Amino acid sequence: MGFPSVLTLAQSWIAQRLFPGDVAIDATAGTGVDTQFLAETVGPRGSIYAFDIQPLALERTADRLDARFAGEAGSRRPKIVLLAHSHAHMLELLPPEVQGSVSAIMFNLGYLPDPEADQRIITGSDSTIAALTDGLELLRPGGIITAVVYPGHPGGAEEADAVTDWAASQSPSLCQCVQYRMPQKQGAPFLIAIEKRRQS
Ligand code: SAM
Repeated sequence: MGFPSVLTLAQSWIAQRLFPGDVAIDATAGTGVDTQFLAETVGPRGSIYAFDIQPLALERTADRLDARFAGEAGSRRPKIVLLAHSHAHMLELLPPEVQGSVSAIMFNLGYLPDPEADQRIITGSDSTIAALTDGLELLRPGGIITAVVYPGHPGGAEEADAVTDWAASQSPSLCQCVQYRMPQKQGAPFLIAIEKRRQS
């Protein structure tokens, strides 16, 4: 049967903690697959904030969302805000009322998997760690961050190590971190998830 892919497992862990009406963040919108998943999960009463620094990514995401929600009346659509900014600025860019009440944040690191994309635009350790740190602050107690990391990409190993070290350095009284990885394939993508403690 095999084990689930890192992308499938990330969505599955998110789905266990994200509910209709909730607020969620896609930190790397890309082609919008995760943005759509988050929007469908929170439904019409929920809100999604999706970040990407690459205009093509936000275009792809907007097209996907338009196609998905085309038949829905305005009142049936979740609120989705696309932000052409680095996720490193998420704390200052999200409205104050959602701070501390975000249920889920998804990161899918690396480059945009699109033939027209500039594949030199990849996520980097400094902005990723800044965003993870801010993301943990934005989460509600019991909320979750997932990060799919790609040690096999150019520059990816350094970022994967930075994310792993960051997760390992978090106080267990603040959050619990887990890693899902194939030890026989060190270059394969892996998943890190961080759940904020209900009481800290
Ligand atoms: N989840 C996406 C999907 O469903 O297609 C895939 C994301 S792709 C692997 C990584 C994305 O991160 C790229 O679109 C890239 O432009 C974006 N990115 C790179 N640096 C970023 C940053 N500092 N802030 C936000 N997005 C960034």
